[in-house]
Amino acid sequence: MAVIVQKFGGTSVANAEKIRGAASRAVAAKRRGYDVVVVVSARGHKTDDLVELAHEITKHPRPREMDMLLSTGEQESVALMAMAVHELGEEAISLTGAQIGVLTDTTHTKARIVSISTKRMQELLKAGNIVIAAGFQGVDAEMNITTLGRGGSDTTATALAAVLNAELCEIYTDVEGVFTTDPRLVPEARKVERISYDEMLELASLGAGVMHSRSIEFAKKYRVQLRVRPAYSDGPGTLIAPESDNATSVVTGVAFVRNEALITLVGLPNQPGVMSTLFSSLSAAKIPVDMVVQNVAREGTANVSFTVAEDELKAALVVAKATAASLQAEDVVATTGLSKVSVVGHGMQTHTGVAARMFQVVAARGINIRVVTTSEIKISVLIDRSRCNDAVQAAHSGFQLEKATSSLPQVGCVSNGHRNGAIDAASPELTADIVARLDSMESIVVSDITADTNQSRVTLSNLPDDPGIAETVFTAIAAGGVLVDMIVQNAARDGKATISFTVLRSDLDCAILLLREVMETYVGSIVTSDRRIGKIAVSGIGLRSHTDVGARLFRCLAANSINVEMINTSELKLCVVISADQADLAMTQLRTEFGLHANV
Ligand code: ADP
Ligand code: ASP
Ligand code: MG
Repeated sequence: MAVIVQKFGGTSVANAEKIRGAASRAVAAKRRGYDVVVVVSARGHKTDDLVELAHEITKHPRPREMDMLLSTGEQESVALMAMAVHELGEEAISLTGAQIGVLTDTTHTKARIVSISTKRMQELLKAGNIVIAAGFQGVDAEMNITTLGRGGSDTTATALAAVLNAELCEIYTDVEGVFTTDPRLVPEARKVERISYDEMLELASLGAGVMHSRSIEFAKKYRVQLRVRPAYSDGPGTLIAPESDNATSVVTGVAFVRNEALITLVGLPNQPGVMSTLFSSLSAAKIPVDMVVQNVAREGTANVSFTVAEDELKAALVVAKATAASLQAEDVVATTGLSKVSVVGHGMQTHTGVAARMFQVVAARGINIRVVTTSEIKISVLIDRSRCNDAVQAAHSGFQLEKATSSLPQVGCVSNGHRNGAIDAASPELTADIVARLDSMESIVVSDITADTNQSRVTLSNLPDDPGIAETVFTAIAAGGVLVDMIVQNAARDGKATISFTVLRSDLDCAILLLREVMETYVGSIVTSDRRIGKIAVSGIGLRSHTDVGARLFRCLAANSINVEMINTSELKLCVVISADQADLAMTQLRTEFGLHANV
């Protein structure tokens, strides 16, 4: 019999009436002929309340005890849900993570799933039960209770759907589906009918709280059909599928992380191994970093900045300070009170001017951009927190996301060019082959590594740190129809900002010409370029949140004395710019490191 997994979030099981409503959906699916597995979150604000309670007892609750405590929220829900199903005349049985056999690693409060045994669930389903599974929790090999990180019930649901080979995984929540941005912040936000795994993965990872980003990793890896639906009505929701259907719009959505912090290591030696040391330590502490920015070295020293979620700042600073000391850096500077706003969409791979448009709409509201990073399908800007809502609204209306098909005449299309190369390099067979070799369900999938030596880098330094600079620069370039690939704008130092970007080598002279006039207006600004660079792209799924991929990448490059000049990260690709002469060496070494066959 076909299996369906239905997941109900906290609001959707907040009280007895809602639990009854959820139970009747499960019963209806069962009566339609499905084997039904229901995954339930803790009721309402239960998890928040438990967190608060722990902090009333101690400032530093130990993670193991935190997991023991938080897992009780879901345990309460499953029992109540099973009772509600019984009342409706069907058989149901509730199970904790341990009882289902969700085995995780030992990282308390953000554990990853190693395996799930389906035997007990299959038997219970076969006997006619609706299986009610506690979301968000598992056990490690020593039977310690673990949790998967806030919002982790989505991941339990897609993981169960994957192992049970479910026909569909429905995520019931308190909104109509996936919107172009958080509808609570932007009332004009539009519900999308269908969104690709890649776009949803990026949006979720960049802050769209509607789905836990790791659940989308599962969905993509194991090809789970996912539908986000309202629990309170019969709305069709949003299908998350291999492809989106919005080929006409360049940008799909806007995501934001309100509480972001920036850490800068100042005055690092400009030599191979610096990034490796830093990333290995951050990875060991399981701290995912975003917006990694490295200064092009001046006078033999470089600065490296990166952002982390503000609640990870303390832990990240401990690591950063230790690394800075071991590398004899001059200083470590932390900036708080920041937010990260990102636009995501497949269309930007082939359209010029998306970055320019983003910077225009932000500058038009007088918002200063402190840091910029891009990847093949996203542009992120770091701004002051007080301007976060403004920036989200500006980006949303600037890309006309409230309309089903936007017509943005200023955004041009380059039909034969690609930012960062075509995205989905891995064929389905290749991915299936790699997935089959994984020894842990949440192991990372690195599916391909490529080198591109057809690009050049332009660096603009000594720029004033004022609103509108990035806008002016990229508007000038977009006006000439040049497709910009990686963009990195650094945190300003001494009131001066630096922007680096890459373009096809054949466009380099044109880009510099287009910039001449603009740069003349910034007294003291400097343009430098590197005609031949090597860009290495590591493709896969969940690469940023699995912190060890970056660490392995940098370690491997350092071991081969390869210096990293520019970096960008996304869940789908990690890109580094290195010297063109070392591109072949980097490729061979990285392919070996990540267990890929020799380059074909
Ligand atoms: P649940 O408890 O059902 O898991 P969550 O609170 O985790 O629900 O997720 C649903 C919430 O996500 C919505 O109420 C909405 O405010 C927020 N959200 C953020 N970004 C988006 C988006 N792009 N589309 C829809 N909802 C979003
Ligand atoms: N109850 C957990 C939380 O609030 C897990 C979840 O709801 O997905 O984060
Ligand atoms: Mg959620």
